[in-house]
Amino acid sequence: MLRGSCCCGAVGFEVSQPPSMMATCHCTRCRKVGAATFVFVVRENFRLVAGEDAIAIYMPEDGYRYTRSFCSKCGSALGEIGGNGESFPIPANCFDDPLDLSVRFHEFVAEKPDWLPICDQAKQFDRHPVSN
Ligand SMILES: [Zn+2]
Ligand SMILES: [Zn+2]
Repeated sequence: MLRGSCCCGAVGFEVSQPPSMMATCHCTRCRKVGAATFVFVVRENFRLVAGEDAIAIYMPEDGYRYTRSFCSKCGSALGEIGGNGESFPIPANCFDDPLDLSVRFHEFVAEKPDWLPICDQAKQFDRHPVSN
């Protein structure tokens, strides 16, 4: 069991199985919402324990696919916990318990700012791994 929460603690969740994958997305959108390094969680292993009514959802504009969730009190990015995907990303920063994972790959490296060096050996993709 791993616990996670937003900055103010209004939203809390638990996952019953450790996430299987961690990656970093360097696209401008993930960067701006503060969700660049994320893990994938399976919905059936996920349980929201607090703050359902504190979750705000930002629906994607045309041309973008992913719903973004936030705590409406503190603004913490919560990935797609408010969506309905069977497996979905949660920012690694939201976890209070340690994650026994390291970044498997970097995506959208073409959009990465120069001030952020990549300091690990994980694979790098200019764009989405599937479209490379
Ligand atoms: Zn909060
Ligand atoms: Zn992204």
